[in-house]
Amino acid sequence: MAKLIDGKAFAEGLRVRIGAAVAGLKSAHRLTPGLAVVLVGEDPASKVYVANKAKQTVEVGMNSWEHKLPAETSEADLLALVTKLNNDPSVHGILVQMPVPKHIDSAKVLNTIDPAKDVDGFHVVNVGRLSTGQEALVACTPTGCVMLAKHQLGDLTGLNAVVIGRSNIVGKPVAQLLLAENCTVTIAHSKSKDLPAIVRGADLVIAAVGRPEMVKGDWIKPGACVIDVGINRIERDGKGKLVGDCDFASCEKVAGSITPVPGGVGPMTIACLLYNTVRAACAIKGVTTPEM
Ligand code: NDP
Repeated sequence: MAKLIDGKAFAEGLRVRIGAAVAGLKSAHRLTPGLAVVLVGEDPASKVYVANKAKQTVEVGMNSWEHKLPAETSEADLLALVTKLNNDPSVHGILVQMPVPKHIDSAKVLNTIDPAKDVDGFHVVNVGRLSTGQEALVACTPTGCVMLAKHQLGDLTGLNAVVIGRSNIVGKPVAQLLLAENCTVTIAHSKSKDLPAIVRGADLVIAAVGRPEMVKGDWIKPGACVIDVGINRIERDGKGKLVGDCDFASCEKVAGSITPVPGGVGPMTIACLLYNTVRAACAIKGVTTPEM
């Protein structure tokens, strides 16, 4: 049976290290990293995410600001708020919760955020820096996936990694990070031919598809590490249940290690947001980022 990669425990440990780093920055440099989160509209899931982000930001000793705007907020007003936050020296990280209402151009919003404060790592400048091997703020979920893979496997050099999914928020950045870790990376997507055969060649599988339990155990090379990014809500036996993109029951019989859903990649996302905020604050202030 595969070893379970406990993302919840890893994220808790990371938050403790971030808290210690924040305490050190306060005493040594009078620097309190600060994260501003902007929520437009009333999407219930987004409200929960934003509340969790604010709670965890405060728990590690950082400043947190929540800006809740009505759904009918104009694009111009949202851009004006982002610009104000760009110019506020106490704010080191800015996150606009996606999705924004349809009348707002999300790309325009993301690219208005100062790249130095872009703790979500979605600004084209940070995406470009990542893909050219330069220092960048990198998207949180991909960062969390690679942290878990390295925690489990150590050095990833030379591994065959298959990333299923090519979205801008998960698939592409995780592929770039794995390339930087010297993996041989294959990116598969909905037009890929014979996906099971592609996955069978992988020492490391990252599934970011959004299709419940699509990846089956007989696609997995024996002993491979499986990182399941998927979060899918399904009905089973008359009850709601969260499942990943991998069929956990069959994959855990073949894989060497696997992340559960929930409790795998999910908890890493906010922890990596806090990690990015500390990194952004240090870069803006010109101090060395502490070990975390
Ligand atoms: P997207 O819908 O943006 O992208 C899905 C990708 O999967 C696309 O590239 C698509 O290919 C590919 N795909 C779809 N169907 C197939 C198929 N049958 N075979 C192979 N590839 C396929 O999703 P996201 O990247 O945003 O999210 C992926 C999953 O990760 C979701 O379950 C989401 O909930 C979860 N997620 C979890 C996070 C967390 O843990 N915190 C954060 C973000 C996402 P194509 O490009 O050809 O359409």
